[in-house]
Amino acid sequence: MHRPYLSDYHIHSTYSFDANQSIEEIIIKSISMNLNEICMTEHISFSPEDSSYNYFDFKNYENEIQNLSEKYQGKINIKTGLEIGEYHLYKESFDNYFKEYYLDFIIGSIHNINRKGLRTNISENGVNSTYKAYFKEILKFVQMGDFDVLGHLDLVQRYALADGGVYNFNDYKDYIYEILKVIISRGKGIEVNTSGLANNLLFPKLEILHMYKDLKGEILTVGSDAHTTDRVGENISYVYDMLRDIGFKHIFTYDNRQPNGIIL
Ligand SMILES: [Zn+2]
Ligand SMILES: [Zn+2]
Repeated sequence: MHRPYLSDYHIHSTYSFDANQSIEEIIIKSISMNLNEICMTEHISFSPEDSSYNYFDFKNYENEIQNLSEKYQGKINIKTGLEIGEYHLYKESFDNYFKEYYLDFIIGSIHNINRKGLRTNISENGVNSTYKAYFKEILKFVQMGDFDVLGHLDLVQRYALADGGVYNFNDYKDYIYEILKVIISRGKGIEVNTSGLANNLLFPKLEILHMYKDLKGEILTVGSDAHTTDRVGENISYVYDMLRDIGFKHIFTYDNRQPNGIIL
């Protein structure tokens, strides 16, 4: 029986402003979950109003991953990544940063629209206009951003939930189509993020994954987006099964920002 190579490609540790788990706690949990590889993806931001601003420390991060990789060698592979946001507003800062530091992988995510959180956008402008603005913002980002995969494509679902606002795919299908076309043409990928599954939400929706497949999109990573140790590796193998059912053949890992396809 084929045992898939399990990788969780979206995890936050104490190097992110909003997570409390140490990298070593994450590693121990990952090994107990039979994960073969993890990629740490800490928040980094150049917006002074952002909680991440000036929080992340690359040198210590890199050293710690290196030391722990040696300690747990043969048990698990650990990659060095980041989750970035607002790239289009701080392009030069990000470009310089990526030149200066060694990174295996970058998730490009949108967490804000017009410098305001998604929850605030929903309460000020309503659910529908927030979805529309979010997809437009993503389109702008994927056209010019430096990233490897797009994170949690339709995250607005999480904040719209209270308003009964899980969107209808057909209402935004044209935006989503454009987003996926650009991602594929630029050789980038998308992330399947399991953090909403406890609320029956998958980021992105299944219809998007089918559309991606129909457009011949191949590059995919799966991530728990764990900020606490109990969620590390959560539903990774469940999503692998789902992707296999849709017809995808590979899951991707990254070294030095180069994607490697591994049989699902
Ligand atoms: Zn995120
Ligand atoms: Zn995240």
